[in-house]
Amino acid sequence: MKTTMEETHLNKHLSEHHMKVTKERNIILRSFLAASRHVTAEELHTLVKKKHPGVGLATVYRTLALFCACGLAEQRQFGDGHTRYELTYNVKHHDHMICTHCHRIIEFENEAIEALQNEMAVKHHFAIHNHKLEIYGHCWECTKKEGARG
Ligand SMILES: [Zn+2]
Ligand SMILES: [Zn+2]
Repeated sequence: MKTTMEETHLNKHLSEHHMKVTKERNIILRSFLAASRHVTAEELHTLVKKKHPGVGLATVYRTLALFCACGLAEQRQFGDGHTRYELTYNVKHHDHMICTHCHRIIEFENEAIEALQNEMAVKHHFAIHNHKLEIYGHCWECTKKEGARG
């Protein structure tokens, strides 16, 4: 199989930190790339197990922590008690709207919002390294159902 740029990135990090490239790490990375965005460790483990039943949940957790450490992924907490992992390497910045009813996650990006944040940072002499904007509420579908229930 062709080596992806994500694998190249991970392998570079591993060699820089004198860690081994293991078959399991590559299996988990491939499943992570194929998984839906904002995946939990348990969901990813279920995917990995389908093809590789020997890989344990603890290994998935450790490997996800490694992905975060090397800049491939970031943790997301969307207020439902689950930690999700999102691929961020070579992915354009975006923000999230989270439905607190059905847990649908809507990704969006808006240049005006980004510009306003930068403007506020300048005003407060603040150097932004990173930001997360999370908007909580109900999606159109849940809003419609609520309306139907009266
Ligand atoms: Zn919803
Ligand atoms: Zn996202």
